[in-house]
Amino acid sequence: MTATEPAELASRRAFRAPLLHFLSDPGPSLSPAAAEYFEDGLLLVENGHVERVGPAAELLGQLGEDWLLTEHPGKLIVPGFIDSHIHYPQTDMIASYGEQLLEWLNQYTFPTEGRFADPAHAADVANFFLEELLRNGTTTALVLGSVHPQSIDAFFAAASARNLRMLAGKVLMDRHAPDSLLDTPELAYHDSKALIERWHGQGRQLYAITPRFAPTSTEAQLEAAGRLAREYPDTYVHTHVAENQSEVAWVAELFPWSRSYLDVYDRHGLLRERAVYAHCLHLNERDRQRMAESGAVMAFCPTSNLFLGSGLFDLEAADEAGVRVGLATDVGAGTSFSLLQTLNEAYKVLQLNGQKLSPYRAFYLATLGSARALYLDHLLGNFEPGKEADFVVLDPAATPLMARRLAKVENLLERLFVLMTLGDDRAVAATYIMGREAHRRCAPSAVALSGRSADPA
Ligand SMILES: [Zn+2]
Repeated sequence: MTATEPAELASRRAFRAPLLHFLSDPGPSLSPAAAEYFEDGLLLVENGHVERVGPAAELLGQLGEDWLLTEHPGKLIVPGFIDSHIHYPQTDMIASYGEQLLEWLNQYTFPTEGRFADPAHAADVANFFLEELLRNGTTTALVLGSVHPQSIDAFFAAASARNLRMLAGKVLMDRHAPDSLLDTPELAYHDSKALIERWHGQGRQLYAITPRFAPTSTEAQLEAAGRLAREYPDTYVHTHVAENQSEVAWVAELFPWSRSYLDVYDRHGLLRERAVYAHCLHLNERDRQRMAESGAVMAFCPTSNLFLGSGLFDLEAADEAGVRVGLATDVGAGTSFSLLQTLNEAYKVLQLNGQKLSPYRAFYLATLGSARALYLDHLLGNFEPGKEADFVVLDPAATPLMARRLAKVENLLERLFVLMTLGDDRAVAATYIMGREAHRRCAPSAVALSGRSADPA
């Protein structure tokens, strides 16, 4: 349930709570040096942007009467979560049983995406999807639409209405899918170009050139995608690579000249800064080097990789190669919109690989790390002055079990680990966009009694 604030609120707002954000990548370290934490903190927001952050005791006395103070005692304010790879048309097919990637696409995905030819359906799903992101504390996402340009018009219209910073693009697909879902190299080029002209840089919206994956694009279409990527260098490129072994073998058959799966994209000019590749499970050293030197990005999708039985992401190898890594749900193959639950599974994937994910690194990846992966860290991802004030109020005692476990917790590191292991949408007390409340969780029992929130978050 979402409760929003009245429109006539002050332009200068102060938020008091325990407060955590990151200034750099903590790596595997258990030291909080890369983070800034205020046990009793104050976040000052002016006209939707961060003015300052610091200890409440120091800052409260400096505020004039025109500042509106909101207190969230016992909660934890962090920057808004960032999802670096997700499919909005797949909202209605999350939790579809029994298949691995290629069969799952044919059996569930293509029929579901076919419905997005209808703009009313696209708008309905886009609105639900964005509310679900906000309920989970996700304030920015890199999103795939369907092949239909109207799916992206509907999505950006819904995102603009909420003033959200979103990145999205129409899927390019001209073979190996049902006829009703195919475009052509020419249509892919012209439809994407029109969407870029209409939406890229419009308000907070940013465009991503989005070939689904190499097997569903001819070389002529990949060529067209590369041309767009050159003509619009500040747009994004967004696709999948090396998710599943059968997929990798299929790409080798379809592109017999290629050195590797990644090489297919490289030869078409699709490796560059702001090019985001989901999964990156079955890569070699040369591939990782190419990603690092080109500025391309890996999106780590742990729940999806487990759900489709695809494989285990190697974070250490990505770090060693110096590749930017973002965290991602990959709904609908991912099984949760919650980036807290995604961190829970990321921790386990890395355990199976003999690697560790410290709670500091985890919360960095969900915030500043993914902002950096999306080349947005100059705009958001932490509370440096001037940044866009998208943030989340977390409730570390959101459930009876969390409250009980929290009572035994002795430090911030343990508190973060409980949040990422046991937390989900219930732990998101409120979500703010540009300093304005966009979601507030209502206690279910209070709703039943009074019909409105009795929980001041
Ligand atoms: Zn995906």
